[in-house]
Formats: sequence, structure tokens, C-alpha cells
Amino acid sequence: MKRYLRKPLMLGVFLPAAVLTLGAFSYQPLKYSLPLELPQLTVSAEASLQELADISIPDYVYTIQSGDTLSTIFQTLSVSQKEMYQVLESDVSILALDTLKPGDKLGFWLKQGRLQKLELRFSPAHQVVFSKVADEAFEYDEVHVDGEWREQVVAGEINGSFYTSAKAAGLSAAEVQRVSALLQDKINFRRDLRAGDRFQVVRAEQFVDGQPTGNTRLEGLRVLNRARELTAFMFDGNYYDLNGESLARAFMRVPTKRQFRLSSHFNPYRKHPVTGRVRPHNGTDFATPIGTPILATGDGVVTRVTKHPYAGLYIVIEHGEKYKTRFLHLSKALVSKGQTVSRGQKIALSGNSGRSTGAHLHYELHINGRPVNAMKAPIPVADAVGDEDRVAFNALKERLLTQMSTTGNG
Ligand SMILES: [Zn+2]
Repeated sequence: MKRYLRKPLMLGVFLPAAVLTLGAFSYQPLKYSLPLELPQLTVSAEASLQELADISIPDYVYTIQSGDTLSTIFQTLSVSQKEMYQVLESDVSILALDTLKPGDKLGFWLKQGRLQKLELRFSPAHQVVFSKVADEAFEYDEVHVDGEWREQVVAGEINGSFYTSAKAAGLSAAEVQRVSALLQDKINFRRDLRAGDRFQVVRAEQFVDGQPTGNTRLEGLRVLNRARELTAFMFDGNYYDLNGESLARAFMRVPTKRQFRLSSHFNPYRKHPVTGRVRPHNGTDFATPIGTPILATGDGVVTRVTKHPYAGLYIVIEHGEKYKTRFLHLSKALVSKGQTVSRGQKIALSGNSGRSTGAHLHYELHINGRPVNAMKAPIPVADAVGDEDRVAFNALKERLLTQMSTTGNG
């Protein structure tokens, strides 16, 4: 682990593994860990604050390495496990700590050894900040920076499988999976493609302050399969074919076979019953008895199956670039990370895990990285580009097609 030291590390006495009692729940604090593969935490100091030349410089910045756990990081900085759990309690609304991966940075602001602020720096485009707002409580802020998207054409010819050909041309495994998912109703990539068929993809890469963030999106693509031409163009966050027909399959409104009573509504302004502070409820709660089958609401890829001390066992599914769903407090997961799922597929059994006041399902829908009311938000319906958008769509389509054709491969 790299640590940027601004002032000498205070070697306070770490509280032994006392059991914290939080609400109706007891935890062994040391058992909570990040979902990273774990060799032991090693500490080596490295002083460089250039990238943080800013008035609000954290007292410590950690760069996460494989093997780190949240507990060991807090322990190394002599920040109490109790404060770690206070941060985790705020994290239940955003579930950001579980997405930390090697290379991400953690900024700590301390005052007399007590945590004041914790910044999760995932990339120049995405940060989450937990700030102390009361003696026992933290609140979070999420920062998204859109930056600049730079386009690039990736083109190639089928030689072997689509996967190996597209990888050889420069697409990542995740991008190949996205292309396959987009065209899954139009072509069977294994059966229908022939050697010599061609493909072209306009990919955009995100930059913030000149730095790549690691995020990419597919703006347009074309597969030339003998006499057939298969296309996808991203317009207003959704994908359409050459004729402006949607490539998305419709979503289901609720993640269960039958509708259960809504026990708590989506409410970004909900107040904590005890502290009176805003503690957003970013999902919809359904009064599902333990063991109720939970269904994927749209086609997608499972990106997380994780346990959180407050959210319990939960699943995250990404549905293309724009939509994401989350299912909390489960008793059993029936899918695993990386798995492709289709709308209506059974993915889990509901439960009462984590900090939960009773058996229920907490279901979230996110559009472009932000939680929305899943019961009211415009969910994808298999629809065409509207008449009022035709001119804009056609202009976009022509621009992307021209780009693809200038690869010398069109
Ligand atoms: Zn809920």
C-alpha cells in the first residue's frame, strides 16, 4: 500500500475487537472486509502531495492495493472501528465502499485522531465523500464529473470467434460482451458469423483534466455479416438500429412475479426517525416474505454479489450503459458475478439480511449513475425514436457511419 504522509502517523492504541451493537444488530468489527483478494497489508510511506496541491488536503491518502481490507486500513491509521461502522451506516444508501478496487485512493481527514471526512477517489470522474455531521453520524456526497469523451474507431475482421477477433482489434472483454448483448436478438454470434465478416465500433473514452478515467462507452457499431448489416447507435442513452427501432427489451416494473405491498417508498428526503437528519431512501421496499423469488427486471450482467453489514446480501445488475438495478437484504443469491441474466430470470431469494426491520426486498433503479423512483421512472420500453427526435437521430447516425466507413474497412 502506498501512503502519502502529511504528518507523522500517530500510533494510537487500537481498540480490541469489541463487539459493537448497532440497532438490532451485533457485529464482530474485524470481520468486515472489502471484496478484494487478500494478501497482508504492508505499510510503506511515500511522500508526494503534488497531485493533492489543494487547500483541503487530506491528512492521509491511501492507494488501495490487492489484499487491503477496510478494517486493516482504519486500524493502521488508528481510526476506530466504531467510526468505520458509522461510515458504513451512511454507505448503505450508496454502497460505494464495496466498489473499491486496487488503485483507488482513500483520503482521510482526522482531528485529534477522530475521523472527520473520508474521500473515496475512484477516478478523476467519480468521488464519494463521507463527512461527519454529528457525533455518531456521517453523510455522503457523490461527485460525478462528465469531462470529455474522445471518440475512436475500432474495426476488424472475423477470424475465429467474434470474441477473439474483437479482442484482437482492441475491444475489452466487457465491451465485446456489450456488443453481443446489444445484438443478441438479431444475430447468433457463434453460429451466424463467417470468416471475413467485418465489424466497426465507435468507442468513446472519458477524460477528466486530460487523464483517462477508465470509462468507455460504445457510441455506434456495425457488423457486416455477408449480405446483412447489423447496427446500433446510442442516442439519448439508449440504443437504436439503422431505422431508429429500439434494441432494448422492455423492463419489468417490479422484480417479483406478483405485486407485493410497498412497505416503504423511494424518498430522497427521508428523515432518520431518531436523528432527524436526511437519510435518503434510494429504493422501494416490498413486503416480501423470506424466500420470495426475486427476478431480474431487465436483461443485463451481474456486476456484484456482496455482503454488507447494513445492506445485507445484495446483488447489482447493469443493463447496458444507462440502467442499473440493486436488490438488498437477500437470503440467497442464485447468480454470480459476471453472469449474463435475462428479464424475468430468477436471481435470488428475498430475506432479512443486514440491518433490516423485517423481511422485505429493497429494490433500486439507477439511471446514469443516479437512483430514481423505480415505480415512476421512465423504464426502457421497446420503442422507436420519436418523430420529434428523428432529425437529430439521423444526423448522429450519419456522423457515426461516416466515421466507421473511413477506417478503410467499411
Ligand atoms: Zn429500503
